[in-house]
Amino acid sequence: MYRYLCLILCSLITLSASSELPVCIVGAGASGLSAAHSLEALGRSTVIFEEKDAVGGNAQNYYENGLPYYLGPLLVNNGSHPETMKIANAVNVTTSTYTPVSSWLFNWTTGETWVSPPDEPSPEFLREYQRYTAHWERIFARFARGAYTENMPDELTVSTSEWFAGQNYPQLQARFTRNIISWGYGDVDELPIPSPNQFYTLSIFNPPSLARPQLTIDFHEVFERYARQLVDSTIHLGSKIESIGLELTPSERTVFSAVQTTNYFSSAIRLNNTPRLSLFRIATESPTSSPPIAGEPVYIEGRFNTSDLSCLYSVGRPDQSPEEVAAVTLQSLSRINRDPSSQEADDWEPAAPVDPSDVKAFRQHRYYFPHFDQTALQGGWFDKFNNLQGGNRTYYTSGLNRVEHVEFVIVSAREVVEAHFSS
Ligand SMILES: Cc1cc2nc3c(=O)[nH]c(=O)nc-3n(C[C@H](O)[C@H](O)[C@H](O)COP(=O)(O)OP(=O)(O)OC[C@H]3O[C@@H](n4cnc5c(N)ncnc54)[C@H](O)[C@@H]3O)c2cc1C
Repeated sequence: MYRYLCLILCSLITLSASSELPVCIVGAGASGLSAAHSLEALGRSTVIFEEKDAVGGNAQNYYENGLPYYLGPLLVNNGSHPETMKIANAVNVTTSTYTPVSSWLFNWTTGETWVSPPDEPSPEFLREYQRYTAHWERIFARFARGAYTENMPDELTVSTSEWFAGQNYPQLQARFTRNIISWGYGDVDELPIPSPNQFYTLSIFNPPSLARPQLTIDFHEVFERYARQLVDSTIHLGSKIESIGLELTPSERTVFSAVQTTNYFSSAIRLNNTPRLSLFRIATESPTSSPPIAGEPVYIEGRFNTSDLSCLYSVGRPDQSPEEVAAVTLQSLSRINRDPSSQEADDWEPAAPVDPSDVKAFRQHRYYFPHFDQTALQGGWFDKFNNLQGGNRTYYTSGLNRVEHVEFVIVSAREVVEAHFSS
């Protein structure tokens, strides 16, 4: 009966032109909640169907002794997240600072660990950043300030490493690569350059952002309160939409089959021998190359001084199951789980095993970072995607509209509502 009701609602909304009917939204993540809020501001009523038992989408945490261990988004600041911060302020959720006391690189197969180069931007980095700023304004700015409404020129359809190979930004390339790896944005030899170019839009590498301490926020709490306090929509939790009563059209099939995602995992795991408040990044063959994608951990953060639980992120091949990724991650952690500061190069303290009982939370983000590859970009993917909006009275908004990032998905949802519903 309930499923029947969902289908009726969706069919009516997708097929009727009447503005009396509620707009049906699938998913109560940042995209769905922002779309609902914007629609409601235009006087439309909304109903949201969410498969999970909680709102927030990716924004879920594991809590222990009142502390949040982030299994989804965590980083935020006024520079990179102005619209997100307006919501956080409106619902009274505050930020915290995170300052790791030590930073390490690790070899995920041998467990060898060494001190990471300092994070402070070097004078060479700042000079490159200045040159890059002018370059970005020239080639990318028009794509960055709004949804992608036109196709990319050839220069922007190449991979990140190919694009950098044609420029002279070695320091910047190393920073980009480091973030691409930690954030599960895939292999730099395959990832087209537009997504990393958005780091600039978000002020991620601008000197003030690099200087300030990292700010984190409990995004789950933000979206929980957003849904309760500011969004009027009726939200049906635990309601998976299997079909909206419409067949995918051939053009929808073509466009969506070109979408790539990352098999990204987040977890909270006890590492009892690594120093607290320490940060570990995967080492790669060179500062500008990606590691092989094999299910290994790429980024590990001991978040609290009072706890030996770490938040960590692993990347699997598309065909790797959560069980396989968990096994590879635990093997790798069992080689790293020691205090590297007390180690002499020729006198390795043995690492302590990490086993399944140390895993407090492990979450797969199977559809993380929807984006399109170089071939799709070269084939004019954006026009095809934009042409789908409104067909069968169905609209799409997610990280795909720009880049997987809370700020972008909030802004993209508003743009879709503004473009298609405001009149
Ligand atoms: C580990 C991790 C760390 C991140 N860190 C950051 C960060 O520090 N800062 C930042 O800005 N961004 C970060 N992000 C990105 C950010 O989380 C996403 O961009 C954002 O959450 C996407 O929101 P969304 O609503 O588009 O998608 P989602 O959050 O995936 O929400 C989609 C919702 O739709 C539901 N759904 C899907 N299909 C159906 C269906 N058929 N029926 C019913 N419901 C359905 C899903 O259950 C889900 O709840 C991170 C993401 C991850 C995974």
